[in-house]
Amino acid sequence: MIAEIIMNSSVRNLDKTFDYSIPYDMEDKVHIGSRVLVKFGNIKELKEGFVVNIKDKSDFEVKDISKVEEKDFIDEAKVNLAKWMSKRYFCNVSECIKLMLPPGTGTNNLENRAKEKTARFIRLAKSIDEIEFNIENKKIKSDKHIRALRMLDKISEIPSKEFEELADVSSAVLKTLEKNGYIEFYENAVERNPFLHKVVASTNNLKLTDEQQNAFTAVENALDDMMNSEFLLFGVTGSGKTEVYLQLIEKVLEMGKRSVMLVPEISLTPQTVDRFIARFGQEKIAVLHSKLSVGERYDQWYKIKNGEAKIVIGARSAMFAPINDLGIIIIDEEHDSSYKSETTPRYNVKDVARYLAKEYSVPIVFGSATPDMDTYYKAQNGDVELLELTKRANEASLPDINIVDMRRELANGNRSSISMRLFEYIKQNLKDKKQTILFLNRRGYSTFVMCRNCGYVAKCKHCNIALTYHSKENRLRCHYCGYEEIPFKNCPECDSGSIKYSGSGTQKLEEEVNKMFPEASTIRMDVDTVTKKNSHEDIINRFKDENIDILIGTQMVVKGHHFPNVTLVGVIFADGSLNIDDYRAHERTFQILTQVAGRAGREKEKGNVFIQTYNPDNLAIEFSKQQDYKRFYDTEIKIRKALKYPPFCDIILIGFSSENEKNVIESAKQMYMCLKDKIINEKLPIILYKPVPAPIDRIKNKYRWRLIVKCKFDDKINDAIYECLKDLESKNIRDVKTIIDVNPSNMM
Ligand code: ADP
Ligand code: ZN
Ligand code: ZN
Repeated sequence: MIAEIIMNSSVRNLDKTFDYSIPYDMEDKVHIGSRVLVKFGNIKELKEGFVVNIKDKSDFEVKDISKVEEKDFIDEAKVNLAKWMSKRYFCNVSECIKLMLPPGTGTNNLENRAKEKTARFIRLAKSIDEIEFNIENKKIKSDKHIRALRMLDKISEIPSKEFEELADVSSAVLKTLEKNGYIEFYENAVERNPFLHKVVASTNNLKLTDEQQNAFTAVENALDDMMNSEFLLFGVTGSGKTEVYLQLIEKVLEMGKRSVMLVPEISLTPQTVDRFIARFGQEKIAVLHSKLSVGERYDQWYKIKNGEAKIVIGARSAMFAPINDLGIIIIDEEHDSSYKSETTPRYNVKDVARYLAKEYSVPIVFGSATPDMDTYYKAQNGDVELLELTKRANEASLPDINIVDMRRELANGNRSSISMRLFEYIKQNLKDKKQTILFLNRRGYSTFVMCRNCGYVAKCKHCNIALTYHSKENRLRCHYCGYEEIPFKNCPECDSGSIKYSGSGTQKLEEEVNKMFPEASTIRMDVDTVTKKNSHEDIINRFKDENIDILIGTQMVVKGHHFPNVTLVGVIFADGSLNIDDYRAHERTFQILTQVAGRAGREKEKGNVFIQTYNPDNLAIEFSKQQDYKRFYDTEIKIRKALKYPPFCDIILIGFSSENEKNVIESAKQMYMCLKDKIINEKLPIILYKPVPAPIDRIKNKYRWRLIVKCKFDDKINDAIYECLKDLESKNIRDVKTIIDVNPSNMM
């Protein structure tokens, strides 16, 4: 038999199959998905490859497979998924396969791979009857020995270290017992279990509200009928979405199938997981996310692979868990941008979920309080069934939201970052010993230009997107189409000379707060303060446990935390996310403001939220005051339609980078010309923009250019872009890296 093999490599030229013959004695072990070692080209050491097909004969003279890995492989369904992804996301099949391998084993360096952890175990080497006989005959005299042997009889297998502690015997005692032939040592695998010794009080199903029941029944019917339908569970935070997930998962368990539940990495806190452990017990649950050690993840993967784990909870990569009896996919906080990978393979896990749901004929449930425009659009069109939860399940009321017009603060002579009203509220909160969160949505490198007097922001004439200031060339530039203009000294709207060039950062804000409220304790959370040692979780816990007065932070503070003592939230500069040069600026702003507002007053006391802005009339800000997603959606979708942005088309970003600027430009131009020809010759419905430098046009000495394609991404266009990519490769322009990103979540 012949195996078609793809090498474990990200070199684009190696994204093809090579035939190898399967030696006779390996025929039982080599299958589609196997990892094998082969002699490749003139390379001395053996190289790893993945078997992607098996056939009877080859047209070439082929070498034998040298070795086959008997563990750590994947199944045929996953190989097919990898092939599908590689085409859709323009990357190598092997790069996709690596996502599906046991964690820590994707590397080509065989020595560095994660593997099982083993420990020295002990067990009795003689029957207990024989031992008891020897005790009676005083052949075994020591009390310690007798106690240890009798105890060991009751525990069938145990690591010797653990036994020493449990039985309070020394290792010398065990050695003697071994020497006398009563016990034996052996190596065995031990599980690295992140929940070991964790005790969570168990919970029972709550009686569902009518709305929850309706939602549950709709999905239940799809489960019963093996329909791969999609649902959007649309409900404010605290409306009881998680309770619906829990009961759906229970139903899937009863059907003898397994569930995958995706959660944004940052919301995957111990509290989240505990709710699932409380309902189902930890034996049935596997968790996959980056905070676990590689070894722990490896063991969690095998807990899934061997069928023990029935419920997989994890960040986006958990979608690739080795499950072959999938029953349901749940994607919580489905609007979160972490569901799209920003490194190769640049996949969107929702696409992968849709592929798998179809494969296994199972439903997908998307959950959110502020759904992705795309998902809600599908719900409007009937492609996704809308299930609504309109009330909070625990009767907590939504906070009061106040919009503060910062233009007036300036007019009144207040140049600080904190408005007079917010200042008063913070003061009062400090007196009342209540906690405050100040949120600053700062995007480091995106510098935009704004009039402090009227809030005017320079936007591109063609794209309705904020222009970005490039200090080096002193130009305002559109990152989509390349349009440029000279920065203004006076505001084109109101002629004021008070022009602001950038937002201020969290660090500066903390200094300001410390000056204004010297009596207050503060803690800051942003990319600079969150490190491996000082984790996100640690900062949150300190804020809670030490009752720190004011938490100052970026995006990170908004995700799903429950702070009973927080009654006041201030959004310092809501415009920060409004003027990012991305067509989703309004959507992101609405989502963030709604989520931040949700942090205030989640218990009995009513919360207050202050949103400070220079654009109080902006729709995203106005609608977030009313917490009215639907009205926001209705307005925003019209803009998307008029300007042809998703969901009305897909945006494909083709990026080029190299230290050699000339080659980067040359590549971009080649690609542009190739696509242009195809559009004309094949009459492809594509809007193609001219190549322009990327917003960050140089990173680590690499020049970056790109071009943007707008279209309805289908097989034909997929093929066309692929052909142009191949065509570009044949031109052999040296040292240029090309990436293609379909609907990137970040346009930088
Ligand atoms: P979400 O996931 O939408 O944020 P949760 O499922 O976490 O909402 O529910 C919020 C709170 O309401 C939780 O404390 C939960 O225990 C409670 N809750 C949810 N459903 C019910 C119900 N049917 N009856 C009583 N309490 C409920
Ligand atoms: Zn102005
Ligand atoms: Zn433009």
